[in-house]
Amino acid sequence: MNVSTLSPLPTAPAGSPATVILFALMCLGAVIAVPMFGYFYRYTWLDWTMFVVLYIVTGLGITVGYHRLMSHRSFDCPDWVKLVLMIAGGWALQNSALKWASDHIRHHAHCDQEMDPYNAQRGFWYSHCGWLFYNDPRTNEKYASRLRQDRVVMWQHRYYIPIVISGLALPFLVGFLSSDWLGGIGCFLLAGVGRTFAVLNSTFCINSICHLWGDQPHGQDDSSRDSWWVSLLTFGEGYHNYHHTHQSDYRNGPYWYNFDPSKWLIFALSTIGLATSLRTAQ
Ligand SMILES: [Zn+2]
Ligand SMILES: [Zn+2]
Repeated sequence: MNVSTLSPLPTAPAGSPATVILFALMCLGAVIAVPMFGYFYRYTWLDWTMFVVLYIVTGLGITVGYHRLMSHRSFDCPDWVKLVLMIAGGWALQNSALKWASDHIRHHAHCDQEMDPYNAQRGFWYSHCGWLFYNDPRTNEKYASRLRQDRVVMWQHRYYIPIVISGLALPFLVGFLSSDWLGGIGCFLLAGVGRTFAVLNSTFCINSICHLWGDQPHGQDDSSRDSWWVSLLTFGEGYHNYHHTHQSDYRNGPYWYNFDPSKWLIFALSTIGLATSLRTAQ
């Protein structure tokens, strides 16, 4: 089957009622249900461990998988490694890699302009998450065409919803199997809802904070900025001015002392032959 002929599936486009309802539920859950459960029942060490593990796994799924691999082709890897990264990224509830990466390629192509999906010139909240609630009539087809040729990306796009559900079911199952229903609900709330909310906001910070505040040591052609402390939350993505200047570099923080765990993971994979053709700008 020619994957390029597959039609896109409904993965909640920006501005759709599904997106608005999903994010409203996620925010209410994270702000009200997560702390209330902690107050009345307390979270266990297992809940917190799952929170940390899934924050790391899904965060790296986005930064290494969705961003550096699929959006910028900054390295190559076997299909099974890509599949693992696509599942980990899918668990972050940031839409399919096809949608995410084509939006992101458009962001680089039209940074700070009308066509930029998260244009920081429209202010902090718009670039942070407000853009998700606007109907965007502009098509991404031009930027999606290369991604549509990738069978792993198209597989992930097709099965995006079951992948998301599995990512939320996993903490519930771990909590449930380790104790009871209440344990399942606690682990689901903290490592499912709370963790998804945390990773979403850390990713959003790249589009908002890293286009508004920080240094521009590598170029001033657009509003991108380096923010080392955002890198602490986003596995190295805070060096955004370097990234906009050298998009296909597998590193966002190019110096050895830059906190860039995404680059460390890609380099580590390359030492055991699971990542090849690592691209660098200098
Ligand atoms: Zn940017
Ligand atoms: Zn990028």
